[in-house]
Amino acid sequence: MDVQSIFIVECRCGTAIALPPQSPLGIFQPPRPQPNQNKWPANFVCPDCGQWFSRPQDKIRQVENASLVQSLTGASFWRVDFACNRRGCKRHISSYIVFPESSSANGVAAFVRSSSGLKCAEHGLLLQLGESILVQQFPYLWRST
Ligand SMILES: [Zn+2]
Ligand SMILES: [Zn+2]
Repeated sequence: MDVQSIFIVECRCGTAIALPPQSPLGIFQPPRPQPNQNKWPANFVCPDCGQWFSRPQDKIRQVENASLVQSLTGASFWRVDFACNRRGCKRHISSYIVFPESSSANGVAAFVRSSSGLKCAEHGLLLQLGESILVQQFPYLWRST
């Protein structure tokens, strides 16, 4: 069996976040990624170190990593949106995370809320997360090529 070629971004700690074939971030299916220009740079939450990080689309890498693909069994790519809770700000912020597909929306949102490190682009201060306003789940299901 051929090793599945996938697209990733990496956290500072080295953990790879796999981009699913289809999500608001774009179409990530070999041979060529098609990022949605309006959605990058994008915010991710690292499942290992718990930090938020932001990556521009030129940091997307294509890799062939069988153990990484294996690790996605039973996992989904989740989008969690929040409004910044600093007084009067209300800026809408999207984040993406790899989390178990069987998780509840509340469970994913709670993990994202417990993470730290992202500054709000509106005022440059650390984000204060309010209630999640949108949670969406995207499967890691590639078309066979
Ligand atoms: Zn990390
Ligand atoms: Zn803000």
